Amino acid sequence: MASEIFSAKNLQTGYGRVQVLWGADLQVQRAQTVVLLGANGAGKTTLIKTIMGLIKPWQGEIVFEGADLTHARTDKRVRAGISYMSEIGCFPGLSIDENIRIGGQFTPAERLRERMDELYEVFPAIATRRKALASSLSGGQRKMVGIAKALAGDPKLLVMDEPSAGLSPLFVQEVIQVLGRFRNTGLSLLIAEQNIKFLELADHVVTLSGGRVGFSGTVEALHADDALRRAYFGVTG
Ligand code: ATP
Repeated sequence: MASEIFSAKNLQTGYGRVQVLWGADLQVQRAQTVVLLGANGAGKTTLIKTIMGLIKPWQGEIVFEGADLTHARTDKRVRAGISYMSEIGCFPGLSIDENIRIGGQFTPAERLRERMDELYEVFPAIATRRKALASSLSGGQRKMVGIAKALAGDPKLLVMDEPSAGLSPLFVQEVIQVLGRFRNTGLSLLIAEQNIKFLELADHVVTLSGGRVGFSGTVEALHADDALRRAYFGVTG
């Protein structure tokens, strides 16, 4: 039976006096991949940052593994097992190794060494250039560093803000493939995206528009709805 690992209820927030999120509800079940689909400006980054404690909610509740983290600091959320990958994903001015170590900063040294070996096996292209600055890598490789960094702490839930940003379609496919591997190990994923290619990974889709959650259901159900199909897939057939 599915069990809930994460839930956000009635999240409301904004910038200054401008309200951006108008009561967003979202759940992630254990080992489930949820894709938060929304166009530019829908409020995806605001929602993800609120989930990570980088933006304070005006109202609402955030629960992870039964613990109320609504007002917890970001580092407490990370220690609890939620990892975050921003749109940029990694620190370009640091080396690959340094990036991954930062991602694993709350992991005991010995475990982190093992974890880094595991991650370098999954990402051979960056393994050969550990001391290189992330800024010297291609956009696709930088994204891989970001994923390795986000996974270094062995999170239970990985929250990602537009992993496709700035990537060519070929690299988008690579990112999807890599995430699929971790998804199959039981990692829970919450991926904010506007690229519908990511629906390949989705067990559940939530749409966000104007700071409000619209649809919440399976990819098939999203497809079956004429208006939603036109809005998100741009096809009428
Ligand atoms: P994108 O795909 O462009 O990143 P998004 O879905 O992530 O879009 P947000 O970045 O959360 O959307 O933006 C939602 C709304 O909040 C937009 O209208 C945006 O202009 C506004 N906004 C975002 N950041 C700020 C800020 N720092 N100050 C004021 N308004 C902001």
